[in-house]
Amino acid sequence: MMSWYRGGIFIGFSTCMPQGLLPDWLYFRVFVPPSPRMEGRAVYADCGLRIVEASLLEDGFSEEEVAVVHPRDLEKMVGNETKIVGIGGHDFLGINPPTSEFVDLAQTGPPYNRVKFLELTRKLKAIKRSREIKVVAGGKSAWQLAYLKTMDKLGIDYVHLGEGELSVPKMCKAIMRGKNVSRIVRGEDTPVEKIPNIRGAVIHGLVEIARGCGRGCKFCTPGMQKLRHKSIEHIIRDVEVNLKAGIDSPLLHSEDVLRYGTMKIEPNEEKVIELLQRVANLEGVKSMGISHVSFATAYHDPKLVEQVSEIIMSLPEQKWIGTQIGIETGSPRLIAKYMHGKVLPSPPEKWPEVVKQSIGLLNDNNWVPACTLISGLPGENKEDVIKTLDLLDDIKDSLSLIVPLAFVSMEGSALSTEKSFTREKMIPEHWMVLGKCMEHDAWVSRKLRENYMAGNIVTRWLFRRLTDRLIDSAKKYAEGMKKGRPPKDYNKIPKNYLIPDVMDGG
Ligand code: SF4
Repeated sequence: MMSWYRGGIFIGFSTCMPQGLLPDWLYFRVFVPPSPRMEGRAVYADCGLRIVEASLLEDGFSEEEVAVVHPRDLEKMVGNETKIVGIGGHDFLGINPPTSEFVDLAQTGPPYNRVKFLELTRKLKAIKRSREIKVVAGGKSAWQLAYLKTMDKLGIDYVHLGEGELSVPKMCKAIMRGKNVSRIVRGEDTPVEKIPNIRGAVIHGLVEIARGCGRGCKFCTPGMQKLRHKSIEHIIRDVEVNLKAGIDSPLLHSEDVLRYGTMKIEPNEEKVIELLQRVANLEGVKSMGISHVSFATAYHDPKLVEQVSEIIMSLPEQKWIGTQIGIETGSPRLIAKYMHGKVLPSPPEKWPEVVKQSIGLLNDNNWVPACTLISGLPGENKEDVIKTLDLLDDIKDSLSLIVPLAFVSMEGSALSTEKSFTREKMIPEHWMVLGKCMEHDAWVSRKLRENYMAGNIVTRWLFRRLTDRLIDSAKKYAEGMKKGRPPKDYNKIPKNYLIPDVMDGG
C-alpha cells in the first residue's frame, strides 16, 4: 500500500502473491520500492488514507496533529504526544481476491500483504509497550479484523467499517477525550458534497471521481455502495494536488469512468468528455490513466470510446491506456443469475458477444484492459466453465491481461452467506481456465513489460531477468493445466496458508 510500484499500477497486484516465489529482498527492492518520504511524512500515499487525512483536517485537526506516515518511519514519528495510530488497508489478512487464489494455488507461503500487515502490528505492539497510543484500523478490508479476539491478538483497539469522512473525525475526538467508544464503529455513506479534497498526493496520482456503480452485481462490494459523482471542479482540485507533488499522470478512478456524471446506464457523453478534456488541458499533465470501465458501456457507445481515446492519446507521454474490467464468466446463465446489470441495456445472453466486441474496440483504440474472471460462483457447473473457456478462445489474440480469481464470500456483498471457492472444488475445466489465462498473460506480459522498465541499468537488467523467470515458469505450469491437470505433486503440498491463524469468526 505504500510503494510506488515503479510507476506501474498492475505491479501492485504482485503484493497479492505469496512469499517464496522470489527472495524477499529482491522482490521488495525490484518490484515494490517504498514511496518517497520527507521529514517522516509520506510524499505519496493510498487514496483512502489521504481522504481520511483531509477529513480530519476539515474537522479542525491541524497539520501538526495529523501525519500520513510510511510504516518504515513509524518508530521515528510516533512521539509522546501521539494519541492514535490509524491503519488503512485493502486486504490486511490477505484473504480477499486475488490474494486468496494466488496463495491457495502457489502454496509457497503467506501472502506479502499479510506479511507486511503483521509486521506492522508487531511494530505497533512494541510501541504500545512504552507509549499510550490507541490503534484504529479501517478501509476496504476492515471487516476482516472486526472480531474482538482478532483485534486483541493483533493489538488493534478499534475497527472502523464503511465510509469514514464523517465518523472517523468524531471517533478520533471521542477516543482522545477518553469517552466510551464502541470497539467496532460503522460509518455512514457520505453525501458527495461532504467528501473533502485531498491535501497530499496519492500513489499513481489516483483521483476518485465517483463512488458506487449502479449495475448491482451480487458478488461485488462497490456495487452495493450508493452511486455518487464528484463535481468536475472537485476532481480538478485533486488532480492539481497530485500535479504539485510531481505526479504528471492522473489516474481517474471510478467503477466505470465512461459513466461519469450520470445515474443512468446510458453514459452522459458530454460530461465524460468535459471531464477528460479539462484534466488533459491542465498544465503539466503528460499522460492519464483510467482505473475501470465496463464492457457494456464501451459496447453500447463506441463513439464515446473513440472520443475519450483521442483525448487521452493526444497527451505527450501516453503510450497506451490501461484499465481494469470484469469479464467474470462466459456463461450467460450465471450472468442472468448474479449480474444481469453488467450487460445492460443488452440482455444476459449477449454477454460473450459484448466482451468480444468491446475488447476489440478497446484494443483498436490503444487500450489494454486487465480483465478479471471468477471461478466457482455459487451453483457454477461444468457447462458454465466451458462457456468461459469458449470465450477465452475468442479473445486469445487480444492485448489484455486476464486475471483468474476464485469466488470469495465477502462481507458487504449480496452473496456474503455463500461459501468461498477453493482449490479442492476445482474440476479439470477450472484448471484449463487457469492454464489458458496464464499462457495468455505470459505472452502479453512480455509485450508490456518495457513500459515498466525504470531505474538504472542494473535494476532494468534485474527486472528483465526476473520477469523472464516468472513468465517462463508460468508458461511451463500452463501446459499441464490447459489439459485440465493441476501442477505435478500439487496435492501433496502439506501446508495451508489460506487462512491466517489470527483470524477469528466468519
Ligand atoms: S459492474 Fe463491476 S463494479 Fe459494478 S456492480 Fe458489477 S462487478 Fe461491481
